[in-house]
Amino acid sequence: MNEAIEQTAIGLGGLDGYEFICECSSAGCFDRVTLTLVEYEHVRKVGTRFFVTPGHQNVAVELVVETTPRYLIVEKDGAAGIIAALEDPRDGDPAAPPS
Ligand SMILES: [Zn+2]
Repeated sequence: MNEAIEQTAIGLGGLDGYEFICECSSAGCFDRVTLTLVEYEHVRKVGTRFFVTPGHQNVAVELVVETTPRYLIVEKDGAAGIIAALEDPRDGDPAAPPS
C-alpha cells in the first residue's frame, strides 16, 4: 500500500508531503500520516523500522527510535523484525524499476 503511494509521490516530483497509512500493528488502522519522500525513505532505509501515528506504538514488540510531532519511528524487535526484514521488497530485488 505505502510502496504504491511512494511510487505515485516520486512520479509527481516528491517535494511535498504525502499521506501514507500508519504502519502500526493494528490491522484495522488506516490513520493517515503525512511524510515527505525524504522522511519516508529515512524510515524505509532500515528494513525493521516503521512509522506510526503518536500513540499507536506497541511497546511490547517495538522500540521508539525517533519522535516527531506527526509520527513516531519504531523499530520492531525479535521475530516480528526478522519477518519484516525478510519481506522487505527492496532487499536484492533485481526487478526494481529505476526511479
Ligand atoms: Zn495506527
